[in-house]
Amino acid sequence: GRVGDPIKISHFDQYAVSKTLAEAIIADSGLKYWVSLRQTSMAHLGLHEIVDPISFHSPLNGVLEWSTAWDSGRLLANVCEESVPDSFWRHFYNIGGGANSRLTNYEFMEKTYGAMGISDLSKVLRPNWFATRNFHGQWYTDSDRLEALVPFRSQSIDDFINMLKKNTPLHIKLVGRFAASAIFWRTRSLAKSPGGSLHWLEHDETSHIDAFFESRDAWRSIPDWDAFTPAQPSRTPQFLNHGYEEKKPRESWTLSDMQSAAEFRGGRFISDHTDDAFKQYNWRCALGHNFTMSPNLMLTGGHWCPTCMVDPKCYADVARHSPFFAQVWQES
Ligand SMILES: [Zn+2]
Repeated sequence: GRVGDPIKISHFDQYAVSKTLAEAIIADSGLKYWVSLRQTSMAHLGLHEIVDPISFHSPLNGVLEWSTAWDSGRLLANVCEESVPDSFWRHFYNIGGGANSRLTNYEFMEKTYGAMGISDLSKVLRPNWFATRNFHGQWYTDSDRLEALVPFRSQSIDDFINMLKKNTPLHIKLVGRFAASAIFWRTRSLAKSPGGSLHWLEHDETSHIDAFFESRDAWRSIPDWDAFTPAQPSRTPQFLNHGYEEKKPRESWTLSDMQSAAEFRGGRFISDHTDDAFKQYNWRCALGHNFTMSPNLMLTGGHWCPTCMVDPKCYADVARHSPFFAQVWQES
């Protein structure tokens, strides 16, 4: 994926809602120098200290393009330098470590658990503790763009794994090697705690079960490790249609560009003119909400109706009207 693709938020993901709305406030604030750096999952040495049932929300066969804490920090320092080109500002970027930081979540877990002394995941985890859907995560087709403008990458994910190996305290490695069953029971009880996958199942939290597993029956049919098939998603870039001519500079966008972009989103451009990509104009979405938004936020940021965009319950309806959104929506 890349920036400009439709914003699509997972069910129950209030964090994504707050990030999306905050991004819109900044992008349409009228400020001249702003940038939205969309931080990916950050690889850092405190990973083993994270004890949060949210760990079970990401599917084993999902993907992430990682960036290390050091590279992300370097990026933030580098964007403050005078040498940053003017063309950098008022844009949206995915932060990602590039081709050698693209892993499935299962691959990442194998590597990180391995670095901490656990060579066999089946001794400490079960596949059906992990959601099978409703989680974000992408390999980016555009993360090299940020590296080209403000170089910041210095570590591949394997460099990070080597660091993790060196820095994991001996007592943690020993527990991993000789007391895997203790880790199994501890992790299982985490999955059973509020917010964890097994907690939803034990307490029949249907809306969470359906969102993260499709149904209880679908959860029951998740195979154990002996039948688990690690995914190998295609690494061939795929580009979604954003509904406008992307090579055209933002200064040259016309009224008819806005009208056809709105139509591709199942809505309408209501204003009768456009002369500034960063000024807010009037739009109406397919479900009848009127809103104001800058063409820049909409086209380069992938935003759309602020009511629909943050409400996953209406996504099926939106996809029926919007060829733009239908590209990222699968009916279940
Ligand atoms: Zn709407």
